[in-house]
Amino acid sequence: MDMAERTIAIIVAAGGGSRAGGDVPKQFRRVGGRTMVAHAYRAFADHPLVDEVVLVVAPGMADAARLAVGPEVTTVAGGATRRESVAHGLGAATARQATRVLIHDAARPFVPGRVIGAVIDALREHQGALPALPVADTLARGDDVLGDMVPRAGLWRVQTPQAFRLDAILGAHAAWPVDEEATDDAQMVRWVGGSVALVQGDPVLDKVTYPSDFALADARADAAWRTRTATGFDVHRLEDGEELWLGGVLIPHTQGLSGHSDADVALHALTDALLGTVAAGDIGTHFPPSDPRWRGAESGQFLRHAAGLVRTRGGEIEFVDLTIICEAPKIGPHRAAMTARIAELLGLLPEQVSVKATTTERLGFAGRGEGIAAQAAATVRVPA
Ligand code: MG
Repeated sequence: MDMAERTIAIIVAAGGGSRAGGDVPKQFRRVGGRTMVAHAYRAFADHPLVDEVVLVVAPGMADAARLAVGPEVTTVAGGATRRESVAHGLGAATARQATRVLIHDAARPFVPGRVIGAVIDALREHQGALPALPVADTLARGDDVLGDMVPRAGLWRVQTPQAFRLDAILGAHAAWPVDEEATDDAQMVRWVGGSVALVQGDPVLDKVTYPSDFALADARADAAWRTRTATGFDVHRLEDGEELWLGGVLIPHTQGLSGHSDADVALHALTDALLGTVAAGDIGTHFPPSDPRWRGAESGQFLRHAAGLVRTRGGEIEFVDLTIICEAPKIGPHRAAMTARIAELLGLLPEQVSVKATTTERLGFAGRGEGIAAQAAATVRVPA
């Protein structure tokens, strides 16, 4: 391992994307149930050689980026041109002590780990590296009528991510004429005398630009993922002298829930729903009530464990929905706090967490105030 190296991926997502049609910039449009930029972000964030990912977005789009990718995303405001946007990304990489950077175009959502590894590896011998594919089609000049054929031997289709030694790309940006836009960072590095390696590209790296490209990208993404939904249900008894923990929040009430752990019936139902999405048994399988370690345990750790199992299997939590069934206390005043706590435990945005409540019209054990029930549903995406 290159212990002295620090590699930062810069995803340039600051463009308007008007060619794709629609009001939303194309990098924030969904393909296969996930935004384009989120696909690229995950590819870099999950790669063992990439230390950090920085997303360059148009000014004012930081919140949109959080919604599109996740609450943990680091964003940098872009500039008026692509070159300026890249420069802002390089500034962020410099501030984070990068030695190597990858510059990637958000219009290419699917990034094979092999390509990321190959361009980084080529930096041992070169100042830059980029993925490229040989041109397969016959090429010709012409306007209305056919002109000369262009020999395609030695011609390449250039893709991203492009990898650079940080000092080389910073030097190239500094030397490049201020009033000239560069279409490609690798050309800037070449222009100051740097050597840029060509590595084997991949057809899945092709840009998603036109409306017809989205249909193909959708089919590609859908083939790679399965959506799974599962439910959970739990009941605990209300007793005197207990604290009432519900949805990860301590609620002042005349009675509390009893059980081996803190008896947070809402988090238990959510935990079972998440475990169900990856067919990993139930909460009792992982945290047996007979085990003294879980006496009085905070139930948030059960939920975090279940979320960790989903992620260990390459899955992503899309949404959770909770219904608390009780006559009292009133849930409404605590809904926002529960939503925030559950989102925090699961690493989700509050928009991905739904908390609801109902009574049973004074019927049954919940209606008589003998206990509280909760039911939950979770939707996740897992690799096909
Ligand atoms: Mg329980």
